[in-house]
Amino acid sequence: MEQEYCPKNIEKYVQKYWKDNKTFHVYEDNTKEKYYCLPMLPYPSGRLHMGHVRNYTISDVIARYQRMLGKNVLQPIGWDAFGLPAEEAAIKNNIEPSSWTYKNIAYMKKQLELLGFSYDWDREITTCNPEYYKWEQWFFIQLYKKKLVYKKNSFVNWCPHDKTVLANEQVINGCCWRCQSTIEIKKIPQWFIKIRHYAESLYKDLDQLKNWPEKVKNMQKNWIGRSKGFEIFFNIQNTNKKIKIFTTRIDTIMGVTYIAISPFNKFSIYLSKKNKTLKQFIEKQNNANFSREEIEKIKFQGINTNMFAVHPITQKKIPIWIANFVINGYGSGAVMSVPGHNENDWNFAIKNNLKIKYVIQKSTKKNIKLVEKKFFPEKGKLINSREFDQLNYDDATKQIKKKLSEEKKIKTKIVYKLQDWCISRQRYWGAPIPMATLNNGKIVPIPEQDLPVLLPENKKDFNLLNNPSNNQSSYYNTSVNHQNAIREKDTFDTFMESSWYYARYTCPHFKKGMINPLASKYWLPVDQYIGGIEHAIMHLMYFRFYHKLLRDFKLVPFDEPVKNLICQGMVLSEAFYQIGKNNERNWIHKSNVNIQKNIKGEIVKAQDKMGKEIIYAGMIKMSKSKNNGIEPELIINNYGADTIRLFIMFAAPVEASLEWSESGLKGVYRFLKKLWKLSFDYIQTKHKYRNINFNLLSKKQKNMCHILHKTIYQVSDDISRRQSFNTAIAKIMELVNILRKFKLESEEDKCIMKDSLISITKMLYPFTPHLCFMIWKNLNKSFLIDHEKWPIFQKNFLLKINDILVVQINGRKKLTIEIPDNLIKKEIISYVKNSSLLQKKLENKNIKKIIYIPKKIINFVI
Ligand SMILES: [Zn+2]
Repeated sequence: MEQEYCPKNIEKYVQKYWKDNKTFHVYEDNTKEKYYCLPMLPYPSGRLHMGHVRNYTISDVIARYQRMLGKNVLQPIGWDAFGLPAEEAAIKNNIEPSSWTYKNIAYMKKQLELLGFSYDWDREITTCNPEYYKWEQWFFIQLYKKKLVYKKNSFVNWCPHDKTVLANEQVINGCCWRCQSTIEIKKIPQWFIKIRHYAESLYKDLDQLKNWPEKVKNMQKNWIGRSKGFEIFFNIQNTNKKIKIFTTRIDTIMGVTYIAISPFNKFSIYLSKKNKTLKQFIEKQNNANFSREEIEKIKFQGINTNMFAVHPITQKKIPIWIANFVINGYGSGAVMSVPGHNENDWNFAIKNNLKIKYVIQKSTKKNIKLVEKKFFPEKGKLINSREFDQLNYDDATKQIKKKLSEEKKIKTKIVYKLQDWCISRQRYWGAPIPMATLNNGKIVPIPEQDLPVLLPENKKDFNLLNNPSNNQSSYYNTSVNHQNAIREKDTFDTFMESSWYYARYTCPHFKKGMINPLASKYWLPVDQYIGGIEHAIMHLMYFRFYHKLLRDFKLVPFDEPVKNLICQGMVLSEAFYQIGKNNERNWIHKSNVNIQKNIKGEIVKAQDKMGKEIIYAGMIKMSKSKNNGIEPELIINNYGADTIRLFIMFAAPVEASLEWSESGLKGVYRFLKKLWKLSFDYIQTKHKYRNINFNLLSKKQKNMCHILHKTIYQVSDDISRRQSFNTAIAKIMELVNILRKFKLESEEDKCIMKDSLISITKMLYPFTPHLCFMIWKNLNKSFLIDHEKWPIFQKNFLLKINDILVVQINGRKKLTIEIPDNLIKKEIISYVKNSSLLQKKLENKNIKKIIYIPKKIINFVI
């Protein structure tokens, strides 16, 4: 063992050992309990940032801890490799997206290895690999066969100059990012998966997720937007037809002044067959390409059908309007409009000069002037509602429902805001959608034996396909069952790949199918998933949805993919800027700032190298745009991977924001050096360990054993039950500091030192595995720590060895007494005075003086 702690040498040595021996490779082993620990897979942008390092460190700490509990731990990693940045970089650098992507993966993989994460590298998945997306295409065809996917027209951003579709991120202030043309909104045919079909179970099964953050579950609930409401049937005057509307507020039914129907509702389309103006209006809604301003302009447009519905209670006639604010996919595609109490209804009524009637009085304020010319969406007492006047919301709902039920004009209905998932992307760098159109216009899947439908990966094809003026590339000509066909040009949304990778990790090289049910049965569900809160809805919703699809195809077990979820906090760092000529902020990296701090460590002055003032913007999320990122590799070079890992886990609870601090990092580094020295000094004694008899130990020794076992007890609880890693680390640090003052004066002392070092090494191993690997190896002569068990505390050591005081009266020993922990002098004196043994002896006596020698004697002079 070297005398000085040298992380560079140690980490290189240990990482090579792990790699050569495939230490973290796992397979299904039914004799062992499994644990599946999964960090969200990264996008190969080129370099790891500190947010990645935090995410993967948390995951690795949990994986290593669970391994020490004796479990068979799977911790895989891979690459979410399709997506727009690769296409943009490829155009810029005139290379193909695949080579840009694979180059980035190689570099980031090296960075991950430098951080010592215990991945099973044999399971690495790269989603742009045909071996992976082949199964995604296969599964899409299965969904198509089960009628769970469909194609329909939907809106996209369209650049009229480049003649191409743009992703939302490529639209900047309503303009094309490339040519600055004003973009249009265009309707084109796209593929959808029926996630609405699963809305109820996606909502209901959130209750199963006891160990998911409440915040995430609430965000998902809002996105699904489940609400209970009613369908009400309005007769249409002078016909035998009925119109079905949806409302969540039947208490406002007496305030209905018109019926509004979506232009795409069946009834609208039926009417348009006889009415030319109507037909034109509907076509305009359906086909036109709008600019963003035009969309604002046409909001709340409508057309009067000149037909009337009959109010089911008052029997009065109500005009029927076709209105473009009504969404056909929500409820029944028709609403009873109550402009007095609903914002959309109000806006439409104002724009089209329709009647407004108020039927709810705000219950909080009496004598409110009703005709304030606005709407009140709140619940309250009914007015202008005949027999329902003065009823509150609950009673009114009940009574109106009863009345309409008697006439069979109402049904309870649950609706969802969740829309079907559009998975078509008009992009090159994605998995091709495995569908084709025959010459006769029929849409058919690509035959399964022809999968995968490959992406042209060479530069020539990429340039050709990415040229906006070349939409008719012969590349898409194909044949299906001996008939000429044109292949689907769109590719899958990249959320498709990240929705099922967790299941493929259980059998990454399985050739006979998408997922090996035996492997998924052993490894799933994921026991711990770790990722950023920004994935709370999109990714985590599609991920849960996909799992349910896979379950229904009997490919995975259970209803939910993940048991426990951690959403780690952001990484913040100090940010600085100067105001530029046009009042813009020019962000300056900290390394170019001279900083003055006060005694509290607060920044009081910042200047650039020329002495010009710089503004300190505070702690802000690390980002390129704020120029306040810290390169992980730089920190590894200066301090080692163990220091960065320990600092990240120590500086904040996992779900809180982490403030990057160089001095904090240095503190952690000093701690590791001290632990190294403590171990080195002990190992130099070449002491022979033997078991010790606790009863024969001195008070100093007993106390050290007590502190050690109390720490093991608390650290185990912090990590396992509370997932409170920062407090666990603080307790280990405290233990090391106490141990450094523990003098090795006897053989027993040395044994206790060794026991302590063994436990400390084990407890720190999940955080700083390289350093612990080496200390362990030297402490135990070549044994390996990677498969060691987590230390166990001994109950009899948990009892505190309290101080024992000799109690004297006038200098003569009367008795000895044990003093409870953590008392100050005043409390100790009063504790002794009031003890039952002494009370009698001091009764009615005048105490003149108390002499107290801490931890030894207390003498009462009477
Ligand atoms: Zn453009």
